[in-house]
Amino acid sequence: MYQVVHGLSGVLIGSQTNNPVIAFILGVVSHFILDAIPHDSLEIHNWQDNGRGEKMKKFVLEASLDLFLFLSIILILIYTDKLKINMPVVAGVTGTLLPDYVWAVAELFKIKNTVTDKYKQFHNWVHGIFYKPVYLPGKYVIPIQLGGVIFFILLYLLL
Ligand SMILES: [Zn+2]
Repeated sequence: MYQVVHGLSGVLIGSQTNNPVIAFILGVVSHFILDAIPHDSLEIHNWQDNGRGEKMKKFVLEASLDLFLFLSIILILIYTDKLKINMPVVAGVTGTLLPDYVWAVAELFKIKNTVTDKYKQFHNWVHGIFYKPVYLPGKYVIPIQLGGVIFFILLYLLL
């Protein structure tokens, strides 16, 4: 899923426990559960992977926009008095975002060893559990990602 979906699930997890360690662990677990739902855009994948060596730049652009969107929602929740940042929330969000940053940092800085290879393999495997080709057309990806955002915001506000 996009960071915005993972991050909001982290806010929900953190708000439901007062233990940062539990929030962090549940955050990491939730990341892989959400990643198993088919969610990657075929259009974005093709745009990034056009063979002109711009993949990393475009990937960073996508990730930055995604993070910006997540932080905007967080700011709105804070300014409307719907969210108080505390340790469990920070730990929950960190747990949900970290699994992608681990491989992104390894990719960006070209860190390659058995651990990063195995981790990347596992992360990719999770993405293909329910849908082997992984990448879906936007007409499916948008409702899935948007549905995730709305689902976690609503659940957070209702609980
Ligand atoms: Zn992931």
